[in-house]
Amino acid sequence: MNDDEIAWQDVLFQGFEVLVTTAVHGACVMVVRLSGRGDAGSCPACGRASTRVHDRYERRLQDLPLAGHAVGILLSVRRFLCADGACPKRTFAEQIPGLTSAYARVTDRLGASLDRIALALAGRAGARMANAMGLTAGRMGLWNRIRAMPDPVYDTPRVLGVDDFATKHGHSYATVITDAERHRPIEVLPGREAAPLTAWLTAHPGWR
Ligand SMILES: [Zn+2]
Repeated sequence: MNDDEIAWQDVLFQGFEVLVTTAVHGACVMVVRLSGRGDAGSCPACGRASTRVHDRYERRLQDLPLAGHAVGILLSVRRFLCADGACPKRTFAEQIPGLTSAYARVTDRLGASLDRIALALAGRAGARMANAMGLTAGRMGLWNRIRAMPDPVYDTPRVLGVDDFATKHGHSYATVITDAERHRPIEVLPGREAAPLTAWLTAHPGWR
């Protein structure tokens, strides 16, 4: 590893269990070759560590852009033989904790940025913003990211707020129930009559 590669390792991959083998940069693209530097991989099915390498293959990943350069990663991946003969997974590919996830074509950190854009702007607007920032993302790709996210888990609110508002230029109304302490909407009910609210409160004991 020459000085250049040491510098790229420090700048781009500090804290990750990887080794930069080469880094090539053109006018607007940078390609970094990496390999995992841990001795063992841990099986995703049984959790046992293994140092027995079955084979290697090259995996391509897109990473966060750097100073206007798109960054591509060529990761030399080791496929390990599981150390447990009874494990249903005979072999498994190594992952770099915090950097790669199984089947993903982007690094975890690029994925986290795309998730934030998808949550803020969703499909078409999100894709436009992502592309303006030098991130490659399509409308459906962003939607799929939102669909793959786990549902948020909220504590039962202590204080509920209830308000009604007009929709369709005052032709109909809706009732919004909020967590009054966290200022977060919880549910929107049709109409502004008491009956749907009473039914909702009965169906959610403890939210009163
Ligand atoms: Zn296993």
